[in-house]
Amino acid sequence: MSSPEPQGATGAPQGLQVRCPSCGVMHTYSTDNPYRPFCGKGCKAIDLGAWASESYRVEAKPTTEDLLDDPGT
Ligand SMILES: [Zn+2]
Repeated sequence: MSSPEPQGATGAPQGLQVRCPSCGVMHTYSTDNPYRPFCGKGCKAIDLGAWASESYRVEAKPTTEDLLDDPGT
């Protein structure tokens, strides 16, 4: 008398395994996790940091005009 299939009261599968887009580790997806779909706070910070620095890199171009700007005289 045993039921191998777990019963989902809310219809959502419990223990859903998802892959963290940052470090690639499998972890349990939970709405209790504020950092989902990341596995934790660190991975979310890393992902945001990488995105920010990458976009910043594109914007921050060295301008020769700045160097050539001579006060004169
Ligand atoms: Zn992670």
